[in-house]
Amino acid sequence: MSDCIFCKIRDGEIPSDKVYEDDKVYVFRDINPKAQVHLLMIPREHIESLEGLTDVHDALLVHMMHLLPQLAREQGLDTGFRTIINTGKGGGQEVFHLHIHLLGGSGLPGF
Ligand code: 5GP
Ligand code: ZN
Repeated sequence: MSDCIFCKIRDGEIPSDKVYEDDKVYVFRDINPKAQVHLLMIPREHIESLEGLTDVHDALLVHMMHLLPQLAREQGLDTGFRTIINTGKGGGQEVFHLHIHLLGGSGLPGF
């Protein structure tokens, strides 16, 4: 997906404030943070949204879920954190490369 912002961030074509990366995922700070800590976790593979998942992605999803509390701890979010996945225009998704928002700390808005 040559026109995907998050693929360009993954490839370093658009600068980002990287927090973590491995062979499956890339994690960086949201450019417009909604709380003190606001990370975005993307799979390296371009998957548009939750709608694009198949069972070949099962191991990837488990990996992403396990990483979330680890990253939250590393960010000092000892009392907890919030995760959000917006799916489709009706779900408020603006960037069509699957991503998990990880939010916490001061300024976390009410749900
Ligand atoms: P969505 O609404 O698709 O779930 O969330 C997209 C998120 O990506 C938004 O929170 C927005 O601030 C963030 N975002 C959009 N463009 C960029 C960018 O170029 N760099 C970074 N770091 N975040 C971005
Ligand atoms: Zn992409």
